[in-house]
Amino acid sequence: MTSFDITASPALEALRDHCEIHLPGDDGYDAARTPWNVAVDQRPAAVAIPRSVAEVAAVVRAATASGLRVAPQSTGHGAGPLAERALDDVVLLRLSALTGVTIDPVARTATVVGGTLWQEVIAAASAHGLTASHGSAPDVAVAGYVLGGGLSFYGREHGLAANAVRSVDVVRHDGALVHADAGENPDLFWAVRGGGGNLGVVVSIELELLPYADVFAGMLLWDRERAADVIPAWARWSRTAPESVTTSLRVMSFPPLPELPPFLSGRDLVVVDGAILADDDTAATIIEPLRALRPELDTFARIPSADLLLVHMDPPVPTPTVGDHSVLGDLDDAAIAALLAHIGDGTAPGLMFTELRHLGGAIGRPSDTGGALSHIPGVYGLLCVAVAPTPQAAVAGRAAAFSVVRAMSSWSLPNLIPTFTENRAESGRMYDGEDWARLCTVRDELAPGAVFVANHAL
Ligand SMILES: Cc1cc2nc3c(=O)[nH]c(=O)nc-3n(C[C@H](O)[C@H](O)[C@H](O)COP(=O)(O)OP(=O)(O)OC[C@H]3O[C@@H](n4cnc5c(N)ncnc54)[C@H](O)[C@@H]3O)c2cc1C
Repeated sequence: MTSFDITASPALEALRDHCEIHLPGDDGYDAARTPWNVAVDQRPAAVAIPRSVAEVAAVVRAATASGLRVAPQSTGHGAGPLAERALDDVVLLRLSALTGVTIDPVARTATVVGGTLWQEVIAAASAHGLTASHGSAPDVAVAGYVLGGGLSFYGREHGLAANAVRSVDVVRHDGALVHADAGENPDLFWAVRGGGGNLGVVVSIELELLPYADVFAGMLLWDRERAADVIPAWARWSRTAPESVTTSLRVMSFPPLPELPPFLSGRDLVVVDGAILADDDTAATIIEPLRALRPELDTFARIPSADLLLVHMDPPVPTPTVGDHSVLGDLDDAAIAALLAHIGDGTAPGLMFTELRHLGGAIGRPSDTGGALSHIPGVYGLLCVAVAPTPQAAVAGRAAAFSVVRAMSSWSLPNLIPTFTENRAESGRMYDGEDWARLCTVRDELAPGAVFVANHAL
């Protein structure tokens, strides 16, 4: 239990009259500190829930005046690595009350307030026939996702979501609000696009939108018994798939639960899902080799682009999870055999899913105008996730996830994807060497003293 004494911090104490602040022992502390990933036990010195940019600035000033550091957090989807550090000198700044979005349909941009969820942005954009490079889950926040790169089902055609950021407004370590874009504060603008929450509190993000009112997307689903056919076929297919195609393959296990639809409840499955940015005939031709494997369920069709947020079936409520991740190169026969040995016949019990997210295309190409993370090398992002409702389940789930990642180590690349990294890791592995060095230099200049505590520290 943290031992922070607010009476030793007059600045923070004074702030309690103006901003929602929860301290250990307060009735609201436990609810306020609980992230989306409810397996994560984060215990900061205080939790602040500002309702305006002025309150964000006041919290930052009060915290630093008290010798405390500040951890911005929007939803806590990515809280795992943060809570692996001692937080007893950290004010957790939760941005859940700072939301909103404005769409400019002519400029095709969205201006998104700091803690806004993707579902709000996509609902607003879709009213104008537009969408954005969102990820698979509706309730992930735009901020943590784009600041960590952001892999979407539009990714192989349009690149990382971070490259779609046009400008940001940031509350700095001294409480000042600054605007950053390609012309104004260019170092800050470069660093936040991939550098996570290490530079300041991002209170507004201007994003380029994508011109899709609808999209050919969906999922194909087989019983897990078909893994030995489907995984090699998908690996072959993805090797030559055009950049207009971004898909994921998962081997999934669902417990028997009445709230799940019968095709999921109590089932072990192989699922391929994603999007194809092409007309219906072209898309149908592209997907045909996978359809030829006679999936039990095939939902690929033209859908409103807003519904792409639902295709991946991510948990709609806060969920306790643990996991592990690596980036893989091409999957040869030996790699697929190693994967099947671990997941195809159920020898990695306890995992909710093992996922291969297809990278490449524009995801793999550096952008001249991009920021600290403008591309991700590699062919597949491997992500293994277990549901962990108890500490014992967390230990078992982590071991299961590690074992799959270890089994694939002969095909792993050195880099990591920030948004897929659920454990404390060497952040240097997330960036090219020169970008990493520049990021650390910019952080030292713009956020001296490591005032901001991000889930992936620099
Ligand atoms: C169910 C699920 C599905 C996912 N799907 C995808 C996917 O398809 N593609 C993908 O790339 N990732 C995906 N992710 C990973 C997700 O993008 C990351 O966990 C991301 O960091 C979440 O952002 P957040 O703001 O919601 O989470 P948070 O945990 O609140 O934020 C993560 C970090 O971002 C920084 N941060 C957040 N908000 C701010 C802010 N306003 N100012 C400054 N720093 C800030 C902080 O450093 C914070 O520690 C998924 C995660 C889950 C759990």
